[in-house]
Amino acid sequence: MSPVLAYIGIGANLGTPRTQVLDALGTLAGLSHSRLSRQSSLYRSPPMGPPDQPDYINAVAALETRLSPSELLRALLELERRHGRVRHGERWGPRTLDLDILLYGDRVIREPHLTVPHPGIQARAFVLYPLAEIAPDLRIPGQGALADLLVRCPLSGLERLVEEPA
Ligand code: ATP
Ligand code: CA
Ligand code: CA
Ligand code: CA
Repeated sequence: MSPVLAYIGIGANLGTPRTQVLDALGTLAGLSHSRLSRQSSLYRSPPMGPPDQPDYINAVAALETRLSPSELLRALLELERRHGRVRHGERWGPRTLDLDILLYGDRVIREPHLTVPHPGIQARAFVLYPLAEIAPDLRIPGQGALADLLVRCPLSGLERLVEEPA
């Protein structure tokens, strides 16, 4: 199978979220049959869903991968577990790490455990803005140009974090 460019949405709001996201980027780079090709800046966003939880740190990564969509999903869920994520059944509750497959090339997938493009893309500033930073000309299958989605999506409190010089 030839490699496909997949986009992964990363989020964390428990523990030390900034470190979790940076560690996740490192672990993604080490994923088998895959190569990390781009990564966005880190962003801070107010929580979606239950408001009584800390802000999120978010980023998006472009991963060139030979893993199939279901292999990639399995690898990401395993990675979440390794980063200490415990699922409590509450939708959009706080978590140490969330890894979503935003896009898998131009594939459209509707399976019980996997929907691609990720259904949240079009309405989520914390996905659209980091995505546009690393892939401004992207087209979302079935939804058109990323740039058009972006102009219709308010920032909703999203902030890009400026890295301090080392
Ligand atoms: P949301 O999907 O709205 O961002 P969430 O990330 O909080 O919410 P989770 O609890 O992390 O949701 O995921 C629940 C299930 O969603 C996963 O076990 C997985 O099977 C399924 N899922 C479906 N499509 C995707 C996708 N594109 N990427 C990641 N998980 C997906
Ligand atoms: Ca690798
Ligand atoms: Ca998510
Ligand atoms: Ca998820």
